[in-house]
Amino acid sequence: MNNRVDIAIVGAGHGGAQAAIMLRQQKFDGSIALIGDEPDYPYERPPLSKEYFAGEKPFERIMIRPGKFWAERDVSMMLGRRVTDVDAERHELTFADGETLAYGHLIWATGGTPRMVNCPGHDLSSVHAVRTRADVDAMMAKLDTVERVVIIGGGYIGLEAAAVLTKLGKHVVLLEALDRVLARVAGPELSHFYESEHRAHGVDLRTGVTVAGITGDQGRATGVELAGGETIPADMVIVGIGIIPAVEPLIEAGAEGGNGVLVDANCRTSLPDIFAIGDCAAHANPFADGATIRLESVQNANDQATVAAKTILGHPVPYDAIPWFWSNQYDLKLQTVGLSTGHDATIVRGEPATRSFSVVYLKDGRVIALDCVNATKDYVQGRKLIVGKTKPDPAKLADAAVPLKELAA
Ligand code: FAD
Repeated sequence: MNNRVDIAIVGAGHGGAQAAIMLRQQKFDGSIALIGDEPDYPYERPPLSKEYFAGEKPFERIMIRPGKFWAERDVSMMLGRRVTDVDAERHELTFADGETLAYGHLIWATGGTPRMVNCPGHDLSSVHAVRTRADVDAMMAKLDTVERVVIIGGGYIGLEAAAVLTKLGKHVVLLEALDRVLARVAGPELSHFYESEHRAHGVDLRTGVTVAGITGDQGRATGVELAGGETIPADMVIVGIGIIPAVEPLIEAGAEGGNGVLVDANCRTSLPDIFAIGDCAAHANPFADGATIRLESVQNANDQATVAAKTILGHPVPYDAIPWFWSNQYDLKLQTVGLSTGHDATIVRGEPATRSFSVVYLKDGRVIALDCVNATKDYVQGRKLIVGKTKPDPAKLADAAVPLKELAA
């Protein structure tokens, strides 16, 4: 391949793939390179802690597009290639093997690397993260010989992994450092509902616990030691405590940022002709009252990809998409819309005991987010309340018999 492309996209995950798709949809006919350090064609990451991990969906069914799609769209795939340096002035990338590639525009879509515990034993061979296909394949290859799994972290990924593993008949202990699971993303009503669901399915779920170390034998983990002295036996340890945005080469090149690279409303970084999208992009989000945040969701990666692609092609549009997210655990489908951070009140619609209900988050009386468990109607209709900055009558909001669409302004 030529050593210059019109648009280089670094990161062949959700955002990178969508950026290439959108550029071609917008009739861009210049050269595009989609560069990724994983060996595979772009694939969906959410099934890694759901259907793929459970063995219910093969890899072919989680690919974002079939392999031949990229050749048909004349997108040069540079897989298994890691970008280590960016020279913003020269408009040039350097790969781990020293090769270089010049670009006209650069889209940085590198996601993040899993944050690992830094206690003794963190590097034992049966301590796993859940970020890539390789991570999950490595766990699946061992599952036959695994009986006891300790999961560190009660966020969505840890909880989803717990649901899959219990379904597979494993004994699961889930450890959360804070006093409830999902504490960073949801209110206590949702946290407590999921805690009791997991316990009812046999998960030994413990909150407010501190991990002191991982014990091992001949390089393999044998248990997780808690600060109080107890050691929980484990054949496998899964760590799901968040990610560190993969932005080092850009920050070293001079881009503003730290926890992610800072972008404006059109996903432009502070460096010329360089855009950043997805998990690694710190942006002012209108649904967080303009606060600068990073969002780790497929919605955000895809919508920012569209914004960057259109802006590069001369049709700048601001990023103002409403955030949404989902999580599957057991037979529970959670759908969230809006951002609940900063809420000052919650209203529960429906009865959690029925396993179909919604938590509505309010700020100054205005609906800012909904978490809907097996309640798709609320999810669909609630979106309008958020976008319309509606302040509905709390009594009506709490009445699950009143459809949310009737409360939209
Ligand atoms: P990614 O999809 O992570 O892609 C980044 C790619 O860039 C990776 O392949 C990475 O290896 C590569 N890369 C990094 N650095 C370099 C470099 N220097 N050179 C070359 N390549 C590089 N979101 C939801 O909305 N719903 C869900 O249910 C959900 N479940 C999830 C479950 C799991 C297990 C995980 C891990 C994530 C889940 N997410 C979910 C989050 C969602 O997958 C991410 O938000 C999304 O993948 C972000 O897309 P991205 O393009 O920013 O990054």
